[in-house]
Amino acid sequence: MTATTHGPAEAGASRLLRDILEEQYATRTERLTALVLCEAMPRHGGFDPRTLAALTRAARQDVADTAHALRRMSQDTYGTCEGCRRTIPLGRLRAYPDARFCVPCHQSRRH
Ligand SMILES: [Zn+2]
Repeated sequence: MTATTHGPAEAGASRLLRDILEEQYATRTERLTALVLCEAMPRHGGFDPRTLAALTRAARQDVADTAHALRRMSQDTYGTCEGCRRTIPLGRLRAYPDARFCVPCHQSRRH
């Protein structure tokens, strides 16, 4: 493997991120499935119904976020901020592989 100083489009880094995303997709799908199964269980599998609904909603969003990132990867738009169109730093993508925005755009959207 050769080390380069290129951005996230660099082949090795993006292959690694794809692996991470695919694993994240599997993990998140499993979690969502488990929560959906709890909804069908007597007494919601021991969850408070409102808590379970919130967890399910969040898990569904997580799966959608990862699916979105994988789709962007196949469309070659992965790693580009959806707000300002700048390249998202590789360090951020390693920490949040499903990130859609760079840090400044992410922060300005939270309010
Ligand atoms: Zn941005």
